[in-house]
Order: sequence, then C-alpha cells, then structure tokens
Amino acid sequence: MAFRLLLATRNPGKVEEIRALLSDLDVEILPADALDAPLDVVEDAPSLRGNAEKKARAYATAINLPALADDTGLEVDALNGAPGVHTARYAGPDATAADNTAKMLGELNEVDDRSARFRTVACLVDGSGTARYFEGVCEGRIARAPRGTQGFGYDPIFIPEHHDQTFAEMNADAKNAISHRKKAMQAVRQYLSRTL
Ligand code: IMP
Repeated sequence: MAFRLLLATRNPGKVEEIRALLSDLDVEILPADALDAPLDVVEDAPSLRGNAEKKARAYATAINLPALADDTGLEVDALNGAPGVHTARYAGPDATAADNTAKMLGELNEVDDRSARFRTVACLVDGSGTARYFEGVCEGRIARAPRGTQGFGYDPIFIPEHHDQTFAEMNADAKNAISHRKKAMQAVRQYLSRTL
C-alpha cells in the first residue's frame, strides 16, 4: 500500500511541485484540503525549523497521518541574516511582496555586500510523532533594483549564484531546478526512497 503523506500547505503550486518530485515513489500525496476544515497554524516560532515542525505536527495530529511542511527565509549577510524567519512579514504584518522588496532595497541602499541566500527547512512528522528535518539552500545576491515579472515574493530582487538574471527573469523550470525548496524536497525524496 502506498505511503500516505499529507502536505501541510494550501498553495497548489507547491503541491504540484512536490507531487512531481515524488512521482516515482510509492507515495500518495494528499493536499491540505483533504481535511474537512483547514487548519490555521500561526507561524510564530523563532526558527524556520520551529515553524515547519509546528505546521507539520498540527496537520499530522489532525488527520492522523504523516505530514510534511516547509518554511523559507531569506538571509542577507549585510543584515546579519535578517529577515530570516521574519521574511514573510519583513515590512509589517500585512506586507505585500512589493512592500517587502522595497524595504529590502532601502535597507541595502549603498551597501556593497549584497550576498544572501534562501533557506528552506522541510519537516516530516511521521505516524509516531517523530520529526525529521531537511534543508535546502540557494546562495545568491540581492539586485540593485527589481527585475522580471515571473515567480513571487522576493524573486524580482534575488539573483542566484552563477546567474545574472533574477529569479523573476527566469522561467519556472529554470528556477525550480536550482531553488532552495527543490533542494529541501530532494532531501525529503532521498529519505523516503531509502526508508519506504
Ligand atoms: P513560505 O515559507 O513559503 O511561506 O515563504 C516565506 C516568505 O519567503 C514569503 O514572503 C515568500 O514570499 C518568500 N519566499 C519563499 N520562497 C520564495 C521564493 O522561491 N522566491 C521568492 N520569495 C520566496
């Protein structure tokens, strides 16, 4: 019987990306809307690990199945690793992506060290309640101005290493081949392929 895994996300793009990546394993992916009522998990943990585990554990408990969640942060060296776990709310609780990128460019105005990285931590909580963590990092730098229209979030101002284009100037396949989330999910995949 296939290993049933609930994805603790309501983002259909993430569900499809993860489903494709795990498609050759004997895993049945259930999206979060498999639950009767969606869970509203407050992401207030002090670390990416903490938030990923909080989400995975809430869903695993609610549906009594293994659950997988992820949390991503953008770490900027010149800002001592900020915004990190606060990436989604960098410019305030109701910040839009445009607010967040504008704030970032303002903070880095006249700063030459633009090195940064996206970090994704995925957490798998299994049927016995054990949490396992998987990490993916994409190194890069912050652009001087937004460029490109694809993607989401900070994509218009993030240039992955060995590239000149921002994520928002790359097509989805090119971005997804090197992204932090892809690397974290590849680590999940490796774990599942070893243990199933
Ligand atoms: P989440 O953990 O996927 O909800 O992401 C947390 C924050 O990081 C949100 O502000 C997202 O917009 C941003 N973010 C996550 N992944 C990416 C990405 O691949 N590109 C740009 N921004 C991202």
